Amino acid sequence: MDYYALPIANLIEQLSKLPGIGRKTAQRLSFHILDMDSAEAEELAIAITDAKQKVHYCSICCNLTDEDPCHICRDNRRDKDVICVVEGAKDIIAMEKTREYKGLYHVLHGTISPMENIGPNEISIRELLNRISDDEVKEVILAINPTVEGEATALYIAKLLKPLNVKTTRIAHGIPVGGDLEYFDEITLSRALENRREL
Ligand SMILES: [Zn+2]
Repeated sequence: MDYYALPIANLIEQLSKLPGIGRKTAQRLSFHILDMDSAEAEELAIAITDAKQKVHYCSICCNLTDEDPCHICRDNRRDKDVICVVEGAKDIIAMEKTREYKGLYHVLHGTISPMENIGPNEISIRELLNRISDDEVKEVILAINPTVEGEATALYIAKLLKPLNVKTTRIAHGIPVGGDLEYFDEITLSRALENRREL
């Protein structure tokens, strides 16, 4: 690191904090950014601060949005009686790509993980329960990733939903344990959704 001027070293340091970006890639990206013309580099910087400033959680489904409610919650053509619960906002994109699902979503922003000190209050479970009591929700589909933490979270939520008189289903695992919704092809995900089971 001592070889670089301080601002370059700092840029490399910041970029290498991003997931999937190793030291080598961070160096390559840094030099690429330094090669850009000033306007282009500024656009990149502005895009980062802009996204951070304008994007927040939807007050209904906790999806990431720059409007409130988000465009999915506002869409009158969607079925309001079914909620699909996912771990992260990127999982909504994966579900939408299947074109099979027409209901609403709820984003947990994580899973319960005692190892990482993430309890039920650290993810948006309370917000989900509030929606069940408010709305005319008939079914909750738990499309949480089939990891150990995901399974535990799904069972925890299913237990809370039981007394609320709402059908609770879990997407079928035509998908490997430890897998990530984001990486499944549309067909695998469509099948899993079709073969969901009641919990
Ligand atoms: Zn929303």
